[in-house]
Amino acid sequence: MTKPMPIYFDYAATTPVDPRVAEQMSHCLLRDGFFGNAHSNHAFGEQAKIRIEKAREYVAALLRAVPRNIIFTAGATEANNLAIKGVSHFYKSRGMHIVTANTEHKSVLETYQSLEQEGFSVSYLKADQNGLIDIDILKSVIRKDTILVSIMHVNNETGVIQDIESIAKIVRAHGSFIHVDAAQSVGKIPIDLQQLPVDLLSFSGHKMYGPKGIGALYIGDNPRVRLSPQLLGGGQERKLRAGTLATHQIVGLGEACRILTQSMHTEIQTIRKLRDCFWAGIQDLPQVLLNGQLTASLPNIINIQFRGLVKDALLKNLEGIAVSTGSACNSMTIEPSYVLRAMGLTDNEADCSLRFSFGRYTTAAEIETAIQCIRAAVKS
Ligand code: PMP
Repeated sequence: MTKPMPIYFDYAATTPVDPRVAEQMSHCLLRDGFFGNAHSNHAFGEQAKIRIEKAREYVAALLRAVPRNIIFTAGATEANNLAIKGVSHFYKSRGMHIVTANTEHKSVLETYQSLEQEGFSVSYLKADQNGLIDIDILKSVIRKDTILVSIMHVNNETGVIQDIESIAKIVRAHGSFIHVDAAQSVGKIPIDLQQLPVDLLSFSGHKMYGPKGIGALYIGDNPRVRLSPQLLGGGQERKLRAGTLATHQIVGLGEACRILTQSMHTEIQTIRKLRDCFWAGIQDLPQVLLNGQLTASLPNIINIQFRGLVKDALLKNLEGIAVSTGSACNSMTIEPSYVLRAMGLTDNEADCSLRFSFGRYTTAAEIETAIQCIRAAVKS
C-alpha cells in the first residue's frame, strides 16, 4: 500500500499553482491558443503580446507600480542577479562599495561574493538576535562610494520582516540605490511602490500560487535606475533581459497577482489565526522554543527550535508533516542554517530547528493533526 502524502507545511519553499492560474496558462500553449512569439509581427504574436501586457498590468497593480517598470525574469534568483550585478556594473565608475546582510538568501549573498571577487568592496551587516538589521549600523557603514544596498523584505527561514521603509529612506538619503528581495513578501504584505522608496524589487511566481520558473524585477524610474543587462540577445524587456517571453508563465504570474490583489488581506488574516492556533497548541512543551519573534514575523512562517532533540529522530517521528529543516535551496548542504546562526544560535540549536510554513490551502484540521503529531513526537 502506498503511504499517504504528509500534510504540506512547506509553502515558503513553494506553493501549488492555483487552479485559476493553471486554467489561464493552459490557453497559451496549444495550436488553438495564444502560443505565438510576442515579438512576431503578425496576429499570433500580437495575441501573445496582449496577454503578456495584461499580465504585466496585474503584476504592477499588486505592487501599485507602473507596468513599464516590471521586467520578467526566470524567478527571484535571476531578478536578484540582474539587480545586483546590473547596478554594480553600470555604476562602478561612481563607486565600488556595496552593502547587504548576512541573513540574505544565497542568490543575493553569492552574487555579492562574486562581485567581491571582481574587486568590489562589500559590507555584510549582521542581523541581531531577532534577525533584524540595526538602522544605526546601516548608517555607519554607508560611505560616499556606496552605490547599492540589498536587504530582503521577509526572511525565508524565519519570516522576520525588515523595516524596509526606514532602511530605504537612509539608503536614498545617501544617494545609493536600494534593492529588496521580496520573494517571500509579495502577495503577503501590502507593498505600495508609489509610497515605498525602493529602487529595485525582486520576486518569484511559485511562492504565490503561480508557476515555477517565472518572476520579475521592478526597476524604479524616480530616480531612474540604469542596469547593465546580464542576458544579451534579442533585446526583449527594454533590452534589460533578452530571451523569448514565456507567455504561459507570464500569464500565470499575472493571474496569481490578480487573485492576490483581491484576496491578500483576508488570506493573511486566516493564516495568522491558523499560525496562532498552531503555536498555542505546542508552546507549552518544554522542548519547544520560538526562533525570532511572532510580532516581527510574517504569520505564514514559524521557525521552532526543539531543544535537546536529535533532528533525525524528530523528523522520523514527524513523517506525517512536510516541513523544512532550513530552506529548500540549501538542502544540499548538511551545515546548520547560516540564518539561524547569524541570529546567535549555536550549531546545535540551529540544527534542531524546523521551519513550518502555511498557505492558502492550510486547514484548521491540518493544524490540529500537526499539533497532535508534534506533541507525540516530542514525548517519544
Ligand atoms: N529569495 C528568497 C527570499 C527566496 O525565498 C527564494 C526562494 N527560496 C529566492 C530568493 C529564489 O527564488 P527562485 O528559486 O524562485 O529563483
